[in-house]
Amino acid sequence: MARQPQRELAEYRRRRDFDRTAEPAGGRTRARRRRSREQPRFVVQKHDATALHYDFRLEADGVLKSWAVPKGLSTDPRDKRLAMPTEDHPLDYVDFEGLIGAGEYGAGPVIVWDRGTYRNLTEHDHEPVDVADAIERGHVKFWLDGEKVTGGYALTRVNRRGSGGRQGWILVKLKDEAADARRDPVSTQPASVISDRTIEQVAAEQVEAEES
Ligand code: MN
Repeated sequence: MARQPQRELAEYRRRRDFDRTAEPAGGRTRARRRRSREQPRFVVQKHDATALHYDFRLEADGVLKSWAVPKGLSTDPRDKRLAMPTEDHPLDYVDFEGLIGAGEYGAGPVIVWDRGTYRNLTEHDHEPVDVADAIERGHVKFWLDGEKVTGGYALTRVNRRGSGGRQGWILVKLKDEAADARRDPVSTQPASVISDRTIEQVAAEQVEAEES
C-alpha cells in the first residue's frame, strides 16, 4: 500500500508553529518528490537542543525518515550508537540550518554536519527490500556517500526504550573499506558542510543579528 507523506508529516507539523520557526513546513511534499532515478539523499544535522545530538535522516517514500543519535556516526564498526526514532521530516528539511527560537519545539542551533546520497543495501532471503518497508521491519542497511562519512551502515531496532516509550535503534558501521577505527569525524570535523560554520557560530550569529 502506498504511504501518504502528508499524513506522515502530521506529527512534524503538530509540534511546530510555522509563523514562529524558520523550519520548512513541507507543504508541497508530493510536488517536490524527486524523480525515482535520482539517488535518495541523507543528512546528518548537528542539533544543540535540550541535549546535543545528531539527527540522522534518510529520504524514503517522499519524507525524511529520522533518528536522533546522541553521539553521532562512528567510522569504527565496534561502536554501537543509540538512535532514537523521531517524527518524519519534509524533504526540504535536508538543507535546513539555523537557530530554532526559544520556546519552539527543538529550540537551539542546527547545522548540516554531513549530507550526500545513499544506496539501499537491505535484503531479505537474498531479495532487495524497499527502504520504507525495511524501516517498518526494524532493520535497514545502506551505503552512504557523504562528505565526511562514507560506506555501509546498519540501523536495527532493539529492545530498549527511551523517553516517551519509543523503541530504540542501534546504528553501526559495517566492516568494509570505508571503516576506520582511527577516524572520529564527530570530534575532528565539527563544522557545517554547507556553510563551514560551527554550531556555536550559528548560535552566536543569530544572537548578534537579533541585537543589531
Ligand atoms: Mn533534533
